[in-house]
Amino acid sequence: MSETDYCELCDLPKSQCIHGRPPAPPAPAPVKKSTTPRVRKTSSTSKTASAPKVVTKSAPRKWTPPAAFAPLILEILENAGGSMQADAVLDELETQLSDQLLPGDFETTPEGELRWRYAARRARQGLLSDGLMTKGTPGVWQLP
Ligand SMILES: [Zn+2]
Repeated sequence: MSETDYCELCDLPKSQCIHGRPPAPPAPAPVKKSTTPRVRKTSSTSKTASAPKVVTKSAPRKWTPPAAFAPLILEILENAGGSMQADAVLDELETQLSDQLLPGDFETTPEGELRWRYAARRARQGLLSDGLMTKGTPGVWQLP
C-alpha cells in the first residue's frame, strides 16, 4: 500500500483531485436522467426474448467520445519519445483537435472539468487497461 492514493483519472493524490472522493467504481458517464421515466409494460410474449434494438437515428454527438482521443494520445506520446506530462498531452490534444471539438466538449462535468479533458483521461484509462499505455510517474502519460 502506498501512503498516497493517486487518482486514476488525473494522477493527482486523491486528496487534491476532483474525482477522488468517494472511491467510486469506474466512473459512469454523467447521464442526465429524465425525471419521469417512461415505464413501458411488456406483456410476456412467446417470442424470443431478444431485446429490441434501440435505433437512434444518427443522433449528432454532443461531445467527443473517449475513443476518439485514444489514437491521438498514442501518436502524441510516440512523437514525444514515449512519455509526456499529462498537461502537455492535453494541451497538444486541444491544439490538434481545435477544429473538431464540439461545443459540448467545452461544457464542464459536475466536477468542474472540461468534458473533452475528462474524455481524454477516460481514454487514457482504456489505454492503460489495454496495455497500450503504462503507469509511470504520476502526472506523466507514458507508453509501455
Ligand atoms: Zn482525479
